[in-house]
Amino acid sequence: MGLKLMCVIAHPDDECFGFGGALALAADRGIETYVICLTDGQAGSYRAGAASGEELGKMRREEFAASCKTLGITRHEVLDYQDGKLVTVDFSKAAGRLVERIRQFQPDVVITFGGDGGLNTHPDHMLVSMLTTAAFHWSGQSKRYPELGAVYSPQRLFYLTTNFFIPGRQEPKPAPWTVTLDIRSVQARKAEAFRQHASQVPLVEQTKELFEKFGVEEFYTLIAAAGTQPARQETDLFAGLEG
Ligand SMILES: [Zn+2]
Repeated sequence: MGLKLMCVIAHPDDECFGFGGALALAADRGIETYVICLTDGQAGSYRAGAASGEELGKMRREEFAASCKTLGITRHEVLDYQDGKLVTVDFSKAAGRLVERIRQFQPDVVITFGGDGGLNTHPDHMLVSMLTTAAFHWSGQSKRYPELGAVYSPQRLFYLTTNFFIPGRQEPKPAPWTVTLDIRSVQARKAEAFRQHASQVPLVEQTKELFEKFGVEEFYTLIAAAGTQPARQETDLFAGLEG
């Protein structure tokens, strides 16, 4: 059995501007990848002339699929939560939907946003972090959701973090990183995936310079792993793991 990576995000385009490097690097190594996006981005600030949230959501689902294809992602899925409203979801139910998917897919490594909400401190990103963290742990516990399949415990959970901020925006308090990923070999593909999000072109343009300057690396923090240990600096999310 080969290694598997699961990535949980809030909006179409999180998969590329946030996690694109890690996902494309994994794909290049033959690691199976599964991206779960909780909303279809109906409440996006950039509307691309869409007449309704529903229309924008439909557009963004297609852009998400095209971006995942560019990154070489094996499996992708958009759930039906409302963009901008993840703080209102039934926590236990939403975490259960992730538990079910972790038990089915059986990833070795799970990646998601940190509790800071990422570079733009989006509350949806914070909620994705919390739901994924709960699901990561509950998936391996037999008392939790016994009706949702056999328990399965992924080996590692990482949060996305950053070494820069977006000028003029509320600064997050990001976690110190434990993994520095050199993503130069996939940097062009990450940028190309971002361009698949045609409805979000103003955002792509706005952040272009920042990503050109800081985009050679992605940073992650190890949040949970088997055993007890001090934090170590690594250059690979899968260091020491065998498929
Ligand atoms: Zn987002």
